[in-house]
Amino acid sequence: MHHTIVPPLPLSGGCQCGRIRYRLRARPLVFYLCHCSECQRQTSSAFGESLRIRSEGLDIDPGLRCMSRESESGKQRQGWFCPDCGVRIWHGTSGSEEINIKAGTLDDTSWLMPAGHIWASSKQKFMAISADEISYERQPEDNYAALKQRWQHMTG
Ligand SMILES: [Zn+2]
Ligand SMILES: [Zn+2]
Repeated sequence: MHHTIVPPLPLSGGCQCGRIRYRLRARPLVFYLCHCSECQRQTSSAFGESLRIRSEGLDIDPGLRCMSRESESGKQRQGWFCPDCGVRIWHGTSGSEEINIKAGTLDDTSWLMPAGHIWASSKQKFMAISADEISYERQPEDNYAALKQRWQHMTG
């Protein structure tokens, strides 16, 4: 298992053009990669990076715009982005107290190490997941408990 050290809080980040800046005042609950086709399309890349925190831990400049979409499970999923450069800053699900920061927007990404992978069933063929990593074929049914526990061990 890989280990990493979460830098001292707050963690800072922002969009590509610099209009939107944010600070994370809460320790991340988990960091994982999502290989679902929605994340692939949204990032125009191979996977999405999710740094999960409790929403009250996010201090962010005003002015974000929201794109809302109904997921397969019928919940509203929201993606918040800079109206000037279009960079997604965070994602959330209606009714949840936890949100996902798009971790590529952090100023310092050097310490990031995923606790695992979700939606491996649709991952790109060139993405290798090693046998000792936590990997879910689809959505975790335990509300991310196993991924969060591994993150605790990785960062403890
Ligand atoms: Zn921007
Ligand atoms: Zn996804």
